[in-house]
Amino acid sequence: MGGKNRLLFFCSASKEIDPKFNQAAQMIVRAACLRGYEIVSGGTVKGTMKVIGDVAAACGGYHIGVLPHFMKGLEYPALSKTCWTDTMAERKEKMREGVTHVIALPGGIGTLDELIETYVLVKLHQLEARILVLDLNGFYQPLKDLLDHYVAAGMMTSEDRNLIRFPQTVEELMEQID
Ligand code: AMP
Repeated sequence: MGGKNRLLFFCSASKEIDPKFNQAAQMIVRAACLRGYEIVSGGTVKGTMKVIGDVAAACGGYHIGVLPHFMKGLEYPALSKTCWTDTMAERKEKMREGVTHVIALPGGIGTLDELIETYVLVKLHQLEARILVLDLNGFYQPLKDLLDHYVAAGMMTSEDRNLIRFPQTVEELMEQID
């Protein structure tokens, strides 16, 4: 059953981030590959994407990278499958194909853009996937506060608010992948 899971990772392209975030990425991807889950990512050699690529390759995991043509030359060299798209919008669509779980690791505006677009699709029943946001060291507290503010202001129902889960540790996150 678990072998059918396909995990999509949204994560930082920066190399300046707290190493704890990349250590968490390593632990999650290693555990996922050992359970036979497929991995999907932005597939570049940048930041946490490279960390994901290294771990998946070391564990013999199946890692699909999805990149727009204008990132040619940045693709991670040991992807199991490389998918090229014309635009960033198409990239996000392609990344979501067949996924069971969407995992946002700590990241910047690219990660936030991918996460929010995916959240809206789940909310509108255009995508059936569990969204897990790794709130390590409270990184995503401002986003949680914003969503709570939306609920308080009547902009969002608490049911929709609860479509995103915010596990605070790697263990908690892995427990939510079935
Ligand atoms: P960010 O969170 O701003 O570091 O952006 C990283 C996320 O957005 C990744 O999940 C990528 O899919 C996408 N992305 C945005 N900018 C880049 C970039 N320069 N190189 C690779 N991927 C990027």
